[in-house]
Amino acid sequence: MGSQSPRPNEIGHPFSEPFARKDIIPRRERRFHGEFSPFARIPPANPSERPEIQLDPPELIWNRRPPLPTGLASVMPPPNLLQPTPEGLWCEAGGFHVDPWKPVATAVVTHAHADHATPGCGRYLASRNTLEVMKVRFDRKLTGEVVDWGTTRELGACRISLHPAGHVLGSAQIRIEHHDETWCVTGDYKCEPDPSCEPFEHVNCDTLLTESTFGLPVYRWEDPRGVLSSMNDWWRFNSEQGRTTVFLAYAFGKAQRILAGLDPTIGPIGIHGALVGPTEVYRSAGVLLPETIRADRTTATELSGGGVIVCPPSATGTPWMRRFKGPGGMRLGYVSGWMQVRGRRRWQSVDRGFALSDHADWNGLLETIRTSGARRIGVTHGSTRVLARYLREVEGLDSFEVPTRFVGEPAPSHAEAVGG
Ligand SMILES: [Zn+2]
Repeated sequence: MGSQSPRPNEIGHPFSEPFARKDIIPRRERRFHGEFSPFARIPPANPSERPEIQLDPPELIWNRRPPLPTGLASVMPPPNLLQPTPEGLWCEAGGFHVDPWKPVATAVVTHAHADHATPGCGRYLASRNTLEVMKVRFDRKLTGEVVDWGTTRELGACRISLHPAGHVLGSAQIRIEHHDETWCVTGDYKCEPDPSCEPFEHVNCDTLLTESTFGLPVYRWEDPRGVLSSMNDWWRFNSEQGRTTVFLAYAFGKAQRILAGLDPTIGPIGIHGALVGPTEVYRSAGVLLPETIRADRTTATELSGGGVIVCPPSATGTPWMRRFKGPGGMRLGYVSGWMQVRGRRRWQSVDRGFALSDHADWNGLLETIRTSGARRIGVTHGSTRVLARYLREVEGLDSFEVPTRFVGEPAPSHAEAVGG
């Protein structure tokens, strides 16, 4: 054998290529390879040894056993409890999908954002509030089975339970038990306190499938109370200048979190029609929100100048929005974790960015992974390659990328669809 032995990357493990290769690193991530990168000291590969990188079909990536660091042994041999399929994550032993992106027979849903909840499935299991939001977003007649927090349900040969993910109202992590094996699918999550949804709960498991939307070391959130306070200050200042303030944010989740933090003594608060249904669900669930009025033709005079309007980014520049211009004009603020990166603070025609995210930052992801006690970590939805590589090389964990329909880092335009 000798030199005939296949190199690791010929075996095909997706992590075997050296990290510093520029041709496999998305342009957006390259800037983080300087002072921010935990991998900055990894030498680049010999160019002559660089193979063509070709990501294989998801099931192949998933089932490969990555080469473990010296001294570690695999604790979870295949077959895996969850498998990626064209419809999404499939649990053979339980006979259900988790967050499928196509209609399936049985769907266990983490939360009601568009990239996790799909209409048209035969049977839904989710938290009470997730089902309520799905009703107002998809179909008022939608039915599903409520799984109360911390209670267990039998599905096939599995026992499942839901645990708050702290991302948006109703958002859940799904714990799946089969024989002596436990998996947890986090869905989207954040660890910091948010008065508009159930607080995040750490879940112990053997294998953790974590999101990684902001899985780069540069993302570290400021105290959200400070961000909301500066949003109120900006609104107050604009109001004194006769300028209407507009906060652009995803209609479900981020918008209600903003509403919960706005100071109603500054002026009237208007909401776009897309926010009305989800906001009602928040109020019904007992979340304290200030009084709001629907921003439309009849309330334009009241809101113009001193008021604030919360609406989805897609409303920017529409005749609907122009209607609310005050005597001093109008100022737009974009509210998203993506606004933390300086280059994105001024995004398109937006006057100001506010970095308020409903996802875990770099430290939140690492803390969750460490606290879970899991030895195997699947990374999905976002900066999968960076985080998975970090977990392997720095934390010494067995990690792998989990294929998703949404590949790579979502930009603000995508964040609009999925709630960045
Ligand atoms: Zn989400």
